[in-house]
Amino acid sequence: MSAGRLAVVGLGPGAPAWRSPEATARLSVATDLVGYAPYLDQVGPLDPEPRRHASDNREELDRADQALSLAADGGDVVVVSSGDPGVFAMAAAVLERLEARAAVGTPAVEVTIVPGITAASAAAARVGAPLGHDFCCISLSDVRKPWEIVERRLTAAAAADFVLALYNPASRARPWQLGRAIELLREQRAESTPVVLARDVGRPGETVHVTTLADLDPTAVDMRTVVIVGSSTTRTFVDVGGRQWVYTPRDYPA
Ligand code: SAH
Repeated sequence: MSAGRLAVVGLGPGAPAWRSPEATARLSVATDLVGYAPYLDQVGPLDPEPRRHASDNREELDRADQALSLAADGGDVVVVSSGDPGVFAMAAAVLERLEARAAVGTPAVEVTIVPGITAASAAAARVGAPLGHDFCCISLSDVRKPWEIVERRLTAAAAADFVLALYNPASRARPWQLGRAIELLREQRAESTPVVLARDVGRPGETVHVTTLADLDPTAVDMRTVVIVGSSTTRTFVDVGGRQWVYTPRDYPA
């Protein structure tokens, strides 16, 4: 049997309009879908219906291996991630296993990474343009890196006056990390710094709140939320229609 191919596809945050035509095209011809069960559900029904291989969210390397094997056996395989597959998601895991296979001479399969709209971009669009100047994305999860590294990066990013997009901000298993992160940020940023809490952006039940670093309540934040913390230049205003906007100007004061 000839080798198939594998696409690591970003589904975007949730809304169908935020899924790229390339992602839709790869899904429409897939024989096999591999991914974390909620992301397989996010794909919705397909015709023809592919085989769906659901897995736990922590088994990324196993899932990557499984997907590469299915492709090597001739499948047209799609690994699904929410948002962008290269941002805290499956693309890196697939490449890690692809590299391991290359090292032992396993025949290659054609691999494509299909980008998607990442949570930070989607959340930013809802409130305006908070990522209009330099920003960085930090995952607060200490599942894949030591917490000391998270603290070091938060401190450095805060000192360098980046806007921050915080992914994986809190979960039941990680209840205190966001509180500690806020403490570190408050040491270096004004209390009035705008903060955006965007939950389930582009999905049913979406909520987006604008608050400040002083008023930010960590208990209002969960795993389905991305948190954007402004820099020293991030501003908010209310337009004549009463809508509140958040943006970071393009120019930085000299
Ligand atoms: N690959 C994804 C990120 C996966 S990490 C992307 O590019 O968006 C999972 C984290 O992403 C969540 O804990 C949350 O912080 C954020 N996230 C993903 N989708 C989201 C959405 N629709 N609304 C708000 N946050 C989201």
